[in-house]
Amino acid sequence: MNWRVWIMSAVRRGNLAVRYKRALAFQYAGNETSVRQEMEDNARKIFLFHVSHNPGYRRFLDEKGFDYSDPEHVAWETIPIITKQDLIRLDPVVDSEVYNYSSSRGSTQKPFRYAASKESALFIWPHHWVLHRIFGVRPYSRGLMLMEYGNDESLKKRLYHRLSNFTVYSAFRMDDTQMHRMYEDIKRRKIRFIYGFSSAVNQFLRYLRDNDLHVELKGIVTTSDNRIGSSYELARRYCGCEVFDQYGAHDGDVFAFECEEHCGLHIMHDVCTIEIIDGHIITTAVQNRAYPFIRYDVGDMARGERLITERCRCGRPLYRLEGLSGRITDYIEDGKGGRVTMMFVGDLLSADFGVDQYQMYEKDGDLYLNVVTRNYTAEELTAKYMSKIEATLKRKVRIVLNEPVHKLPSNKVPAYIKLQ
Ligand SMILES: [Zn+2]
Repeated sequence: MNWRVWIMSAVRRGNLAVRYKRALAFQYAGNETSVRQEMEDNARKIFLFHVSHNPGYRRFLDEKGFDYSDPEHVAWETIPIITKQDLIRLDPVVDSEVYNYSSSRGSTQKPFRYAASKESALFIWPHHWVLHRIFGVRPYSRGLMLMEYGNDESLKKRLYHRLSNFTVYSAFRMDDTQMHRMYEDIKRRKIRFIYGFSSAVNQFLRYLRDNDLHVELKGIVTTSDNRIGSSYELARRYCGCEVFDQYGAHDGDVFAFECEEHCGLHIMHDVCTIEIIDGHIITTAVQNRAYPFIRYDVGDMARGERLITERCRCGRPLYRLEGLSGRITDYIEDGKGGRVTMMFVGDLLSADFGVDQYQMYEKDGDLYLNVVTRNYTAEELTAKYMSKIEATLKRKVRIVLNEPVHKLPSNKVPAYIKLQ
């Protein structure tokens, strides 16, 4: 284990090497039955903890009229689902368990500040390293981070990134000047991997392609936005590596990753128990004793109606999410008063390597499908996809080409956005 792991363990007051070792073994342990049992037991245990130690959580259950007088025997699926709004309103902290606080910036909601207990705060990088190991990168190898923050970071954050061996670029400023600097940095500093928003990574890969530039990387980890199919081929061609999608939600302690087989996202259920209910991803943060993320609606939609429980070809028994179909807001009103998830457009276009990126947007009541491509004309795309899209949506959709994509205040790129 290298010196950075020890320094960071000291800074964070917890042994990261031990957690990494534990996570490495954990990913291959058990079978379909034992994983289910573990997920159920862990979830039940944290529920019992908060029922007995967290007055704020009990207040929530009282508001819902939920009877927890015999908490050991309540049927799990009757426990009320808790939302971000509930948590903002009640702020149910268990002070004695708090290790640190985080806040997430919602797209439209108020900032959400929540507490994490020690185990809930410290698993994150060790879990990332489990993924890094798949493409042969060791903890704290030199990485390029392409995230919401950029040059305006605080000193503390800069120091933290320096120690973590991260070169940080802002996903906000993906212009040619920055992308060229990224390219040069990767070469000069011998950067081994990229970790960034899917859409920003895709943009960088297209920049390499358009300028016929090549770099050597071990792997690319994409996160936050929807997985973009074209990135996988571009990464092989221009970076000589594979792309691995990762899904994390720190509120709710979700950590899931794509393995070398690229068939779904393996859930590290040592930190979360995941359920899919009406398409919503419901998580229970089983290690967080400071804040009750219990049957928490994290705001993301799952692809598929259930988790994949069969052991993966890679050998891991960890259950899998088939994929994400976007945020709850990525729904389009169809012409019949119903709602359609953007997933179906993703299914059509993600597999098409001629399509670099796409986004549906609505403006003044009209729907537009913006496709970023150099391989198709609008007429060709219309002929190829439009009858299917319009049949599903029961609405007229206009294809536009190569417009800039619209971003949320968080800098994420939604698959669908309604413009004011
Ligand atoms: Zn696998």
